[in-house]
Amino acid sequence: MNFYDSDKLRTLLFENGFLEISSIEEADIVIVNTCCVRKHAEDRALSFLGSFKNKKNNKVFCLVGCVPAIYKEEIFKKFDFIDIISGPNSYKKFVERLKKYNGGKIAIFEEDEGFLKELIVPQISEKFTSFVAITKGCENFCSYCVVPFARGKLISKPEDVVIKEIQTLIEKGIREIFLIGQNVNEYGKDIGGDFVKLLKRVHNIEKILRIGFLTSHPKDISEDLLNLFSELPKLYKHLHLPLQSGSDKILKLMNRKYTVEKYLKIVEKVRNLCPEISITSDIMVGFPYEDEKDFEETYNLIEKIKFDDLYVFKYSPRPHTEASKMPDTVSKEEKERRHQLIFNLQNKISILKNKNMEGKIEEVFVRKKSYKKENTYIGRTMNNKPVLIETKKNIEGEIVKVEIKRGERHYLFGILL
Ligand code: SAH
Ligand code: SF4
Repeated sequence: MNFYDSDKLRTLLFENGFLEISSIEEADIVIVNTCCVRKHAEDRALSFLGSFKNKKNNKVFCLVGCVPAIYKEEIFKKFDFIDIISGPNSYKKFVERLKKYNGGKIAIFEEDEGFLKELIVPQISEKFTSFVAITKGCENFCSYCVVPFARGKLISKPEDVVIKEIQTLIEKGIREIFLIGQNVNEYGKDIGGDFVKLLKRVHNIEKILRIGFLTSHPKDISEDLLNLFSELPKLYKHLHLPLQSGSDKILKLMNRKYTVEKYLKIVEKVRNLCPEISITSDIMVGFPYEDEKDFEETYNLIEKIKFDDLYVFKYSPRPHTEASKMPDTVSKEEKERRHQLIFNLQNKISILKNKNMEGKIEEVFVRKKSYKKENTYIGRTMNNKPVLIETKKNIEGEIVKVEIKRGERHYLFGILL
């Protein structure tokens, strides 16, 4: 979401005559876009900013995105060299004010009107692949999560606007689209739309060769959506379905509104419908009151489900959230230990899963050339696993047939057939 936002902001800035340069030293304006979903992300953004404290040199410093959205004017007290702050739903107003800026402290949190009704097609940082945000905000209030406070209410982008945005991206050469939202399954709730219908419509666009989506919330995922994995040939057979915890007690405290049993049913159903599907997930360790037994339930469930990959996070309290009012019961060292145990377990599972791909013939969409290795291209298998292909032929942006020769932790290695 932040990459997408940065690209969108970049586009607005370019349209208004600003230029991007590679050296911060020479810049007149420095804009830092921020994420606050975990304390670690926030700390990184603020310490990056802190490194400029003593070298202001008449630059205009701007802090945008989710960190200022939750701390508001307090930011000025902490970093007195910052000139402008703006939330993630106010980029149009931010650029307008930046154009006219002639000193003083400015805070912009008033949301842009009809933001999603107007087309801002992000400047593309990739040649063939792009995100397209279909919703902004979230109203689920999972107890650990700051997103509803930073990004506000759920607002869906009208179907026609999504399609227009994709068409503009196609003109720029894009062939692979990832529809993104905090919970794509809730797309359309506010405007009478429907995610399954939208996916089908995007799938009908001839020039789009590959489609993916994230994130799905287990409480809302529908059978109709799962059926699409076998119905739509251009849709990646990949489901990112955050589990968070394998303990019903913790899931309840997290306000996730599903049980382990329900989660397992979804996994079973989708694997029956589409055996080659890859399933990835998010896990959080060290949530308040997570004891050894809860952790073991999570560990055992991961061993049972065997995800293709996992993102494992250590819980950190976030401002405004319900969980931040609970005691942070798990020590730093214990969070680290639990994190490491799951990390090691997942490494083993991912290697096994990728080894299982060896010998398979795959249709691969080739996204780009590798920066690291000569005559090597990076593509994705139909179940959205990255594969490296060595060839002297230029295959960028094409669909090619590949035999998978080797599967390692993070990559598959294939030869062009
Ligand atoms: N909308 C998505 C997730 C957005 S945040 C969803 O509903 O799944 C991405 C991931 O960050 C979450 O799945 C969660 O595992 C993690 N996360 C969110 N808040 C966190 C916190 N306070 N501490 C640690 N991890 C957190
Ligand atoms: Fe946060 Fe839950 Fe909304 Fe995801 S669904 S953004 S975790 S509140």
